Amino acid sequence: MQPFIFDALPTRVVFGSGTLSQLKAEATRLGTTRALILTTPNQATTGMQVGEALGDLFGAVFSGAVMHTPTHVTEEALVALRQTGADLVVSIGGGSTIGLGKALALRTGVNQLVIPTTYAGSEMTPILGQTDDGLKTTVRNLAVLPETVIYDVDLTMSLPTALSATSGINAIAHAVEALYAKDRNPIISMIAEEGIRSLATSLPSIRAKSYDQDARKRALYGAWLCGYCLGSVGMALHHKLCHTLGGSFGLPHSETHTVILPHAVAYNSQAAPEAMSAISRAIGASDAANGLYDLISGLGADQALSLIGMPEDGIERAADIAVASPYWNPRPIEREALRDLIARAYVGKRPS
Ligand code: NAD
Repeated sequence: MQPFIFDALPTRVVFGSGTLSQLKAEATRLGTTRALILTTPNQATTGMQVGEALGDLFGAVFSGAVMHTPTHVTEEALVALRQTGADLVVSIGGGSTIGLGKALALRTGVNQLVIPTTYAGSEMTPILGQTDDGLKTTVRNLAVLPETVIYDVDLTMSLPTALSATSGINAIAHAVEALYAKDRNPIISMIAEEGIRSLATSLPSIRAKSYDQDARKRALYGAWLCGYCLGSVGMALHHKLCHTLGGSFGLPHSETHTVILPHAVAYNSQAAPEAMSAISRAIGASDAANGLYDLISGLGADQALSLIGMPEDGIERAADIAVASPYWNPRPIEREALRDLIARAYVGKRPS
């Protein structure tokens, strides 16, 4: 075994069904006197439900969270935070809402209690992506790591089946890249394999029956594990390429991850044999890249970049941008091989 460093992230996790009922006790545990609830516009009603669970700690709901954490929205939320006199933000929703809570914590040091309702995993990471004038920057700082996370399976039951599939694959992608990360370690690898297994076995059941509580529980558990991987070790080709495609062509987040994942895995397969074995075991397939492609196909998700808004003339441009700023990957980044990867993903061919 190679020497390694394991740096445990200190977030407290409460997991189960009906755990929203523990919100007030958890907020009190953090010394809260008043809380500001954050949501997207379409989860404002859920925000009010959360407000009721907070009782006399409830301050207000700010329901303006949007994708990519634009700084002008953060400024508006900062005004609401000051007006409410809140010493806790409760972020209920997916990565967009959680991003806003992190942006407030970075600027003010306010405590965060997060109630995730997708599988994106941001609640487990000390990472914040934010945009200013369309330019996205990423901050890695323990100040943005939430103090407490309450996973309540009941609040994920409403996640539409299509978004459950792509959000679940987005989570799997974190664990996949953790398995071949430069700074990987045996603890995170163990968590990664279990995270992939939990999602790979539950997502097909959710596709068949959206209100399958047991499957929803296993998917949320898997999402937690995969999010922990994302927060703990560095990511590589898959995440960098999805970031490039999302940023340059405005492609949707989890859908882009879903199209690219099998291709990124195929690209790295020869260079990361142990990771490939772990992925194959977790999804019950003989080949990691093709097994992931089949899993996604069975979930009915789009498998071509052309179907999710990528322009055809973007293939060359994306390859240029993706090689412009070098980063670590198990297999060196070669422009022509990367261009072929993007071209295959554009039409939705099997990975090779
Ligand atoms: P999202 O937060 O944008 O949510 C998508 C939509 O689904 C929203 O309208 C939301 O209100 C709705 N929704 C969420 N949960 C629902 C539920 N249970 N029922 C019904 N509707 C629901 O999407 P996401 O994929 O969770 O997050 C994507 C964003 O998060 C991206 O900007 C990405 O960059 C960021 N992200 C950041 C990190 C990090 O570590 N910093 C990690 C993962 C994702």
